[in-house]
Amino acid sequence: MTQLTRRGLLAGTAAVTAATAIGPLAATPLRAATPLAGKQAAGFYRYKVGAYEITAIYDGEWVRDLNEQYVPNAPIAEVQKVLAEGFLPAGKTRTPITTLAVNTGSKLVLLDTGTGGRLGGATGSWSDNFAAAGFNPAQVDTIVISHFHPDHIGGLRTKDEQLVFPNAEVMVPAPEWAFWMDDARMNAAPEAGRGVFMNARRVFGSIAGKISRFDPGKEVAPGIVTVAAPGHTPGHTAFIITSGSASLLTVVDSVNHPAVWVRNPDWHFFFDTDRALGVQTRKQLLDRAAADKLPVTAYHWPFPALGQVTKEGSSYRLHPVAYSHTL
Ligand SMILES: [Zn+2]
Repeated sequence: MTQLTRRGLLAGTAAVTAATAIGPLAATPLRAATPLAGKQAAGFYRYKVGAYEITAIYDGEWVRDLNEQYVPNAPIAEVQKVLAEGFLPAGKTRTPITTLAVNTGSKLVLLDTGTGGRLGGATGSWSDNFAAAGFNPAQVDTIVISHFHPDHIGGLRTKDEQLVFPNAEVMVPAPEWAFWMDDARMNAAPEAGRGVFMNARRVFGSIAGKISRFDPGKEVAPGIVTVAAPGHTPGHTAFIITSGSASLLTVVDSVNHPAVWVRNPDWHFFFDTDRALGVQTRKQLLDRAAADKLPVTAYHWPFPALGQVTKEGSSYRLHPVAYSHTL
């Protein structure tokens, strides 16, 4: 049996190079260097839930400096330790963004719309990835919004305020509308807390009469059932997508980066409006996923943001999906 060693390989390479240099190939012109691609492949990933075809569409990643506020109820040294254990950069918080397109065979349904390119940084690639997946905005029948944070509703409009989806019915959680569209609440909010209220008016204001509001628990499209998941925001909504005997749970923003909040479900999240309720909802959803062995997706998990969850004592573990080249 031939033993390959690095020294042997290098010696072999040198021998081949020398042979090539003096052989007939020496007269062959050198090939030009292959240009560097300089960019990633298109960010979409397909999988099936029963007969439904799901396409995860990537919008990019929001990267911020880590500070004490990211996990308000844990010492920053603990957070840094967890990030290091996940091989994540210690001084940064990473928030990938992935939306879902659900093709039921008769309807194309979007769950949330991405940032619309308004969050800056390495976000805003949703439209390119949606097109690369073979879709165009006119094909979308229904858009279901989970909650009103800008990274979820921003994609309803272009940067110059045009509506992106000409044929889509837009459905939003009724309690979310009641909270963010309440002028008295907006005016009572501290200056720094008014951005989400104002952004919701910018996005929805001129189309308010056309927007359907649903109560949590409602089936908003065939096989897509909404689940009340308050805490992140008052009307924050999760989804269960079912086709035949298969189901998928999307926890949306109830479980942010898995290295932090799947491992430490009791940790608070800065952007939750009610952090204690956020913890309660997070655990309920993860318990359900673990007990029922449901595949789970989330809006801010590393792409394609899909896996299975198991329970380990008071913690959980995410088992991310392995890439499959078949559906
Ligand atoms: Zn979000």
